[in-house]
Amino acid sequence: MGVFASAADLILGASCPGCGQPALTLCRACGLAMRPDPYVAWPTPTPPLLQKPRPVVPVAGGANVGVLRAALIVWKEHGRFGLTVPLSHLLAAAAGHHVEPGRPAVLVPVPTSRRSKRERGADVVDELARASARLLRRVGGDVCVAQALAYSRSTHDQAGLDAEHRAANLRGAFQLRSAGALAGCDVIVVDDILTTGSTVAEAVRVLSAAGHRPVGIAVAAATPRMTVDMR
Ligand SMILES: [Zn+2]
Repeated sequence: MGVFASAADLILGASCPGCGQPALTLCRACGLAMRPDPYVAWPTPTPPLLQKPRPVVPVAGGANVGVLRAALIVWKEHGRFGLTVPLSHLLAAAAGHHVEPGRPAVLVPVPTSRRSKRERGADVVDELARASARLLRRVGGDVCVAQALAYSRSTHDQAGLDAEHRAANLRGAFQLRSAGALAGCDVIVVDDILTTGSTVAEAVRVLSAAGHRPVGIAVAAATPRMTVDMR
């Protein structure tokens, strides 16, 4: 451990979320372990809203396990916003699957509740989406971000709820805030983590009802159901 690294750890309390070594964001090895490896991540059971009338395919930048899971926890719950950049590569890789050359696309983040914004001091999913859109533009994508959805009522914290209760908790919880930026664009719903799919399904429901059925869903990470079932 270098003197500087030790000093940085002492002053900033910063350590790699993957292995605990002093690091401002991620150590090199954990950074490599978090490289995007996108895959289609249908939740089981799949919310019917994602299947009909036309499938809205969810793509994840990686699986919510190991280093990636640890990074998402410290990013979201402990305010390690330096991880937004590495995490945005995962979301960009997932969203990129839905971007067609020459067609404008808009990333619509799932809304963040007032409580979460207050607790975290930021709308972390919105910031993640914006960083991902910048990456996609850098490689030639015509991609922007629109906060088209908002909460229409308060909900319970989703953590600890099973799929059925998550869906009931969110049913009717979102509303269209503004559709102005969606016209003529392929709409992609984005979130940080996909678990049961109830959050993105509610977003798809509201957007579809307004005539903007999304072309796909993109998340930084998807939680394998085994992990959920073991909690
Ligand atoms: Zn590490």
